[in-house]
Amino acid sequence: MQYYIDVILPIPLHKEFTYSVNENEAHFLKPGMRVAVQFGKSKVYSALVTNIHQTAPQVYEAKEIEHILDEVPIVTNDQLQLWSWISEYYMCSKGEVMRAALPSAFLLESETIILRNDSHTIDEQELKDDEFLLYEALQHQSLLRIQEVMDIVGKKSVLPLIKRLIEKNVITVQEEIYEQYKPKLVRYVKLQIAYSTEEALQDLLDSLTRAPKQKEVLMHLFMLQAKTNKAIKVADLIKVANSSANIIKALVDKGILEEYHKQTDRVEYTSNLSVASKELNSFQEQALEQIQKHLLEKDVCLFHGVTSSGKTEVYVKLIEEQIAKGKQVLYLLPEIALTTQLISRLQEYFGEKLTVYHSKYSVNERVEAWNNVKESKAKAQIVIGARSSIFLPFSNLGLIIIDEEHESSFKQYDPAPRYHARDTAIVLSKLFKGKVVLGSATPSLESYYNANQKKYGLVTLNRRYGNVLMPDINLVDLKTKYKRKEMKGHFSDTLLTAIEEALKEDEQVILFQNRRGYSPVVECNTCGHSPQCPNCDVSLTYHNYRNQLRCHYCGYHIAMLQKCLACDSPELTTKGFGTEQIENELKELFPEHHIGRMDQDTTRGKHGYEKIITKFENGEIDILVGTQMLTKGLDFRNVTLVGIMNADNLLNFPDFRAHERSFQLMQQVAGRAGRTSKRGKVLIQTYNPFHQILQQVSINDFEGMYKDQMEERYQYKYPPFYRIIKITGRHKDYNRVNEATAWFAKSLRMSFKEHVLGPEFPPISRIRNQYNKNILVKIPAGQSLKKTKEVIKKIENSFKSVKEFSGVRIIINVDNY
Ligand code: ADP
Ligand code: ZN
Ligand code: ZN
Repeated sequence: MQYYIDVILPIPLHKEFTYSVNENEAHFLKPGMRVAVQFGKSKVYSALVTNIHQTAPQVYEAKEIEHILDEVPIVTNDQLQLWSWISEYYMCSKGEVMRAALPSAFLLESETIILRNDSHTIDEQELKDDEFLLYEALQHQSLLRIQEVMDIVGKKSVLPLIKRLIEKNVITVQEEIYEQYKPKLVRYVKLQIAYSTEEALQDLLDSLTRAPKQKEVLMHLFMLQAKTNKAIKVADLIKVANSSANIIKALVDKGILEEYHKQTDRVEYTSNLSVASKELNSFQEQALEQIQKHLLEKDVCLFHGVTSSGKTEVYVKLIEEQIAKGKQVLYLLPEIALTTQLISRLQEYFGEKLTVYHSKYSVNERVEAWNNVKESKAKAQIVIGARSSIFLPFSNLGLIIIDEEHESSFKQYDPAPRYHARDTAIVLSKLFKGKVVLGSATPSLESYYNANQKKYGLVTLNRRYGNVLMPDINLVDLKTKYKRKEMKGHFSDTLLTAIEEALKEDEQVILFQNRRGYSPVVECNTCGHSPQCPNCDVSLTYHNYRNQLRCHYCGYHIAMLQKCLACDSPELTTKGFGTEQIENELKELFPEHHIGRMDQDTTRGKHGYEKIITKFENGEIDILVGTQMLTKGLDFRNVTLVGIMNADNLLNFPDFRAHERSFQLMQQVAGRAGRTSKRGKVLIQTYNPFHQILQQVSINDFEGMYKDQMEERYQYKYPPFYRIIKITGRHKDYNRVNEATAWFAKSLRMSFKEHVLGPEFPPISRIRNQYNKNILVKIPAGQSLKKTKEVIKKIENSFKSVKEFSGVRIIINVDNY
């Protein structure tokens, strides 16, 4: 009997592959286990088994597997189902989903090992400098890994070098598979069994009179043992006895102590005390009841509660309900790094039951979280995480909460799978017959539409907790302010007065500007030239602090110019402004006060955000200037004033969602003001005070915004009335992108006629030396999504066979956001 397995390989290939196994292996293997297989010439991958059967593949001969990597499945059947859905819906390969889903430690890959080739004698004269370096290193060392090669020659691109050396018979290569995950082992000590009697022990202590430090350690060991009656960690013993690792080692070497190891979890929280959750006020109570009622009939409920209405406390009650039933809960957040406040709040309530799944965590920590969720461990009953946590191996998922559901960062842009975590979470929840709560102060049009269509339940909470009024929002007309010379730098007198008043009362201020750096454009006064990024079609942004010009797309940077590159004139001016300039102006305007800045430039590093947020919370910063980052659910007690420096560049962003987004963003920033007793104040500076969206923001008119925007979406055929698939052609050659996308669009038009838009260059058409050109396919409600995708796939396949277009990448983005 011949046996076969189908596997998913972690690469962008659309088919699963079949390998052959022997009978024992076939009986041992289960879907969800990994096997090491060879694919291509010599590469070894860890592949995931999906099916075990006896049907030989028809077009190729099945290779044998290398070996089996797991004892039990690491991926569940539910996950495999979800992967299939994602790969079909978002038009990507299951391998791409696998890559996104598994912690990288599970994606064993072969690592190339370089060995000396002893079968040839080498003429050293023939070797170039870098070749010689490697050759020499291999005289002292039997093998080298790629990373070591990089270190030796001091550069990253070493493959050409390795290739040359293989051709010259200097080296050979070997592929080795390695396991990256290492459970954390903790060292323990105990007394050797020989000393277990009183007598032996006494003798031992007597014999140690000349080694008082060792004796000291033993005395402490007994004390610890008597006190805790538990295994003693080496680290604890050293601490208590005020000793050192060397002394412990001496005792081990003498055969007095025995050392052993135990596997522990890395992700541990010190506090396991939990505090009782807060009692809800009557409005929250009512909201909770309505949500529960909706969820009896519907799978999804949208919770529209204004900023600071206390949505989190309602979620907490919903979570407690699930915990009591022994179910798992997933709490999805747009960006985990920005939510330390929320995490500590939840940790207080749920203590050890809460697992945070974080891309900044180490590989090993993520594997542990994975295993805890899969085994339904109590300590992973609630998982809080950003979008990738939908990939965890839940077994008993009762509820998914999607906080700030309107946030666009729930959608992954690049690489594939280009999935939307909110929408995928709803599919995930169905697998467990679980429930979903979408929460936001500014719901997305899509979700609100679904609620209006009665697909989702809808619960509204219009009151802030503690009866705090919604902030008072006013628009400041920059045009008249400039005309009347009532501006200081980028500040209107209105805003300055408000800041002064707040500071006088010892209150804090938040200022929002959606650009970082000092100014986004540098221009020559004489000839009008402005320095551009050589790799992207954008102007370089001036950063005053580092005196640099930087590209925000590719990271390219140069020192600030002394004179114009085109005409040598020294008269350069800057145009537009970013957070850095605002910070500088504030420092001059308020020299007595502490000014802080929160943007990508100031929050690098693992705890970058936390540092700034904590400083602001502790009152070490009076005025905080920042970008979008400021909007994300932060809860500061003492902020009474929020200023939006310029609303216009938000509104003018060329995207059909720009108005919806502007509304959401401004409402969210405004929501940071006046969260305790005093009513907050918001000032929005703009050249267009009569803009519909700004008017709606100023009176909290979500319904009005929704109605207007929906009319536009309907008229211009955009979501939620039409679905959108964006197809991007990408290549370094401008003409080739043009021709390729023209061909693609023409083929699409044959099927979809006027519902194909483009190809069109996006506002920034070249990024990192690659040109992009987009085609939009709009799909009306009645048209089958499945068939549409089939047609697109077919066209993509023919596209791939056209020689002229080779090298042009096609990127498909379903439900493009
Ligand atoms: P939202 O998420 O709707 O913006 P939060 O849940 O952050 O609002 O609540 C705003 C503030 O009000 C928080 O500081 C929170 O601790 C407090 N709060 C909300 N509900 C209650 C309650 N029932 N009892 C005590 N404090 C509450
Ligand atoms: Zn010039
Ligand atoms: Zn660039």
